[in-house]
Amino acid sequence: MSELSPLLKQATPVVVDHGEGVYLYDTDGTRHLDFTSGIGVTSTGHCHPKVVAAAQEQIGKIIHAQYTTVMHRPLMELAERLGEVLPSGLDTLFFVNSGSEAVEAALRLARQATGRPNVIAFHGGFHGRTVAAASMTTSGTKFRSGFAPLMAGVHFAPFPYAFHYGWDEATATRFALRELDYVLQSMSSPADTAAMIVEPVLGEGGYVPANAEFMAGLRQRCDDHGILLIVDEVQTGFGRTGKFWGHEHFGVRPDIVITAKGLASGFPLSAIAASRELMSKAWPGSQGGTYGGNAVACAAALATLDVIHEEDLVANAAEQGRRLLDGARAVADKTPAIGDVRGLGLMVGSEFVTPDGEPDGKTSAAAQQLAAKKGLLLLTCGAWGQVVRMIPALVVNGEQIDEALSIWQDVVAEVTA
Ligand code: PMP
Repeated sequence: MSELSPLLKQATPVVVDHGEGVYLYDTDGTRHLDFTSGIGVTSTGHCHPKVVAAAQEQIGKIIHAQYTTVMHRPLMELAERLGEVLPSGLDTLFFVNSGSEAVEAALRLARQATGRPNVIAFHGGFHGRTVAAASMTTSGTKFRSGFAPLMAGVHFAPFPYAFHYGWDEATATRFALRELDYVLQSMSSPADTAAMIVEPVLGEGGYVPANAEFMAGLRQRCDDHGILLIVDEVQTGFGRTGKFWGHEHFGVRPDIVITAKGLASGFPLSAIAASRELMSKAWPGSQGGTYGGNAVACAAALATLDVIHEEDLVANAAEQGRRLLDGARAVADKTPAIGDVRGLGLMVGSEFVTPDGEPDGKTSAAAQQLAAKKGLLLLTCGAWGQVVRMIPALVVNGEQIDEALSIWQDVVAEVTA
């Protein structure tokens, strides 16, 4: 007999039988409103018929057309089609399987292209669990403790997490940029700095949107010093924030974009995009892998692009995101236990605080657990687990948002009573 590792914990007691749209059905036939989307992955909803059909059709043709041995049509077509949605100029792609792998590919590219060793990441960022990605991750010590030494050459500057600092957004942003300058002056000289890596909205770190001034400040410093700006859109990409890419909200131009999660509606697929000029500076042999650009995953990604376009899902994410944010704020207005509600599009977080204003991971965990009992699946995030996040699929409608908010209202009333 063998069994799953005891360390792999589930946030809910649900054992899934099947899924459809924003609903998951467990093995007893109970229906759950899924506002986790498999951590922001099932952008087109569970088992969208078009994605299913595309994957099924592809499975009958070729499953594993190993991309450093042969080339296949879904991969070539996807590389071309992503040009429709990528920022202009980022016109070459390298495909792998997970967010972490893509983060590492971006890091390799940045180091090889600049010949510089260091990277600056931002406090609260999450970039993955593999060692290099974990070395750039500070959303919680659990992701980076106990397996030191981590990768050298990583420095950190603050993210403008205004609520955490107890400041307004402008003050937090000024502080973050000032500290970034201090890092460049005192720890990682520009001549040693290959890249800055940033999430447009801190994901695992607590659902904290960046802002235009902060992102422009990063761009400016990167331009001044020949540093590359890597934008990690693993969680914020593919329409989730109500624009195709999270960074579009801030009018900033990235040098490398990292995408995964929503890209293939649940199939393991990720990519980095950069200009041909930059990508060509990576060293021969530095890009490859056994499973990258899997044919079924690429077919699912092509269908995902079609569905996003045909069903106008980016606009839907913006509209339903506003409804969700407004509703979550209305719930928070009734209790001092939720100190802040924030987000962009269909990434909405409610931060719990103790009566003396400290992060309250206990109440947020209780709320997340009670919501699951009442049929609403949610996740927590933040360094203390103090933020409950809502990440429904982009196909969510107003009625489903209202259903979730009504459960959320009851949950919050009960756990704070
Ligand atoms: N970057 C970000 C912003 C993420 O949210 C995640 C996953 N939560 C990753 C990287 C890592 O992706 P994966 O789990 O697929 O390795």
